Parts: sequence; C-alpha cells; structure tokens
Amino acid sequence: MNVPTPPTQSDSESDQANNRGSTLATYGSRLAIESKDSILSPIASSRSRPRSIGAATESADVIVTISDYRIALLPGDGIGPEVTESACALLNAISALDPSLTFQTEELPWNAEFYLASGAMMPADGMTILAQFDAIFLGAIGDMRVPDHIALRQLIFAIRQGFNQYVNLRPIKLLHGVETPLRDRGPEDLDMVIVRENSEGEYSGIGGTLFGGSVDEVALQTSVFSRRGVERILRYGFELARAKGRPLSSVSKGNAQNFSGVLWDGIFNEISAEYPDVTSNNLLVDAAALHLVQHPEKFGVIVASNLFGDILSDLGAALVGGLGFAASANLNPERTFPSMFEPVHGSAPDIAGKDVANPVASLWATGMMVGHLGRPDWERAVISAIEDVLAEGRIRTPDLGGHATTKEMTSAILGTLRSPEA
Ligand code: ATP
Repeated sequence: MNVPTPPTQSDSESDQANNRGSTLATYGSRLAIESKDSILSPIASSRSRPRSIGAATESADVIVTISDYRIALLPGDGIGPEVTESACALLNAISALDPSLTFQTEELPWNAEFYLASGAMMPADGMTILAQFDAIFLGAIGDMRVPDHIALRQLIFAIRQGFNQYVNLRPIKLLHGVETPLRDRGPEDLDMVIVRENSEGEYSGIGGTLFGGSVDEVALQTSVFSRRGVERILRYGFELARAKGRPLSSVSKGNAQNFSGVLWDGIFNEISAEYPDVTSNNLLVDAAALHLVQHPEKFGVIVASNLFGDILSDLGAALVGGLGFAASANLNPERTFPSMFEPVHGSAPDIAGKDVANPVASLWATGMMVGHLGRPDWERAVISAIEDVLAEGRIRTPDLGGHATTKEMTSAILGTLRSPEA
C-alpha cells in the first residue's frame, strides 16, 4: 500500500507543544465537547499545539495570552489560489479583531505546475515539512494536465492517510438567505454533519491491474474495513451526536457488502449500546439518499464510509446551495499531527482566474480551522458573518445569481465579522 510513513515527533517536542498556550488549548477542548453549535472534535485533545508568545497586556487583573499558530497554505490549482486568498484575508481579519490570536501563514506551491516540473505533487520531505505546522489549509487540486488520481493520491490522500486524519467532517447546513432546491424547506430542516471515514474503506488505494490495455484488462480495487477504523469513526460520530444533542444515522450497505458492510453494522450495534442517550439508526446508503431528500429534518449526524460519505456529502451540498457552501475538515482527533481544512469543491477550471468563485466554502473551512485550534467562538462568528451577508442578499457571486467578485464577497463578509465577545 502506498501510504507515506507519518513523520514522528520526539517526546521532548511533544512536551514543549503541551506546555505552550495551555490556557487556550484547555479552553478549546472543553468547549468543543460542551458546545452544541460547534462541529469541533468531540474527542479531548491529548496534545495542544498553540504557542503562547507572551503576555500582550498585563495589568492588575488582566493577562492576555497570545496564541500564535503556524498555518501551511496549499493553494493548489484553478480557483484554489483565489479562495485561499479569501481564507488568508479572514485570518488577518480575526487577528485584527482579536489580538490574542495570530496566524503565521506559509504558502507551499505544491500543485500541478509543481508536478509537471518535478514529477511529484510534493517534495520527498513534504510530510516532514507539513508536520511542523499547527494546521493545513488546502484550496483545491485539479488540472487537466495531471491525471486526477495521481494528484489526489500523491497529495490529498497522502496527507489524510499519513497524518491519520481519519475523520472527514462536512457540515450540511442551510444558511439563512440561501435557497434549497427542496420545496417548503428552510434552515430548521437542514442542519446536519456528515462524519466520513477518511483513511481506509473504498479509498484505501489497494489494488492492481492485469493485462493492461488488452481486451482482457482487469482492475482490482480493494476496500479495507478494519475493526479499529470502523470503531473509531463510529465512536467519534456518537460523541459528536451526544455533544450536539442530535440523532445519529450510521450508513452502510450490509445487505450487499456481505463482509465489510456486515462488520460495519455489527460494530454499530456494539457501540450504539454504549450510547443509550443518543437516538440512532442504521440505514442502507440508497435509503439514506432517499431520506435525505424526503426527510432531511430527521438527520443530525451521519456516519459513513469513505465512498458513501463522499457521495452523500455532495448530495447534502446540493440541498444547501451547492458546492460554493461545502466546507470540510480532515481531522486527526488525537492531534498527534496537523489537521487539514478545505472547501469541498475542486479547482473549477471553467471559472478559474476570473475572480468569480464563491468564497463561502473556503471561509467556512477557515472558521472550522480556527475552531479546531481552540476558538469555536470564532467559528460561530464566521458562520454568522457569512449568514448576515447572504441574508442581506446584496452582494453575491454569480453562482448565487449575483454579480459580485470573489474579492467583493469576501470583503463584505469580513466587514460584517464581529468579535464573539462584542
Ligand atoms: P476538479 O476536476 O478540480 O474537481 P471540477 O470542475 O470537475 O474540478 P468542481 O471544481 O468541484 O469540479 O466544480 C464543479 C462545478 O461547480 C464547476 O463547473 C464550477 O463552476 C462550480 N463550482 C465549484 N466550486 C465553485 C465555487 N466556489 N464557486 C462557484 N462555482 C463553483
């Protein structure tokens, strides 16, 4: 299997990290569990990463700890750099409003051009470089000159698997001011989170081909479902459902996938018994697609395998306004490695370079990143600002029927952003 070996971190480095900015880190993990509005990791952090770089203000009774985060930016291809610019603008806006938070961003030019020049999507020591950051922001990857499976496998999947980012969290939430294609449905009906298994399953990358190019050509693509992998994603989902006070739906295809589906369903039965306070059910993936359209209000947290979660989250995105609203987090819940945040959309070559991409998915993903780093209050503030601009309806990119540019819509949202304490 072509899984890059994750770089290890020495104990002394971990200890140093644990000692940095512990005030905010503790605050972050406690709020993450208690908050019903945040979709942050429900699993308490074993390792905090922020660096306290000193007291900004010190008076008789006020000490402000500055938490300084290092963010790796992978703008990528197509509209990726444009939406990454919006993400950076948001980080700057948050720092301007909240001097206790600073972000040092570093751009890594690992994209199609990099591949064409070097033969690889990242340098040989790429994972070691990324491991030094607190979080990673990815714009979009995809270019006609590089086969998609190479670009994805060598960069996105390498990071997800190498950093054990086994949770892919995708909020499906209809914001005020956005239309759903579903008749007579509103924001109260569409508010859920998809927890997609992100490290194995159908995207494990195991397989091979035989008799290539001939009429006898054969391709094998093997799904991998491990007890450990299934158990941890279901447990994560149950913890999240409990923290949010929402029902959980486990999605599989146990009637047709008589090995992996049966394993998944068996583990779901075991774990659901440990969470009697969480209302849960088990759905076949085809039934889940039907119910999502007919009864979206019944869903709170959906847990699904890599492939099923991927497909359902695009369906979910369509229900809440399209790809311009689909944000995602690739989480390493134990925080041994950095997590990665990205808009779900691809490089959208048809609109690249025109300054018309909808920046909402990117801004939302950035909000999730700040939430993951310990400030869920800022994550909520970002979503509120997005919602205010959408509800006002004056400034919208063309995908929403407007004429605004990416930059104009970003500026409008940042101009509306308010400090959570205000
Ligand atoms: P890739 O091959 O990189 O996945 P793609 O064009 O096949 O690119 P997406 O980038 O996901 O797939 O885009 C699908 C369609 O959705 C595109 O035609 C694009 O115009 C539209 N789209 C995607 N993201 C946005 C966005 N942020 N704002 C506006 N339109 C978008």
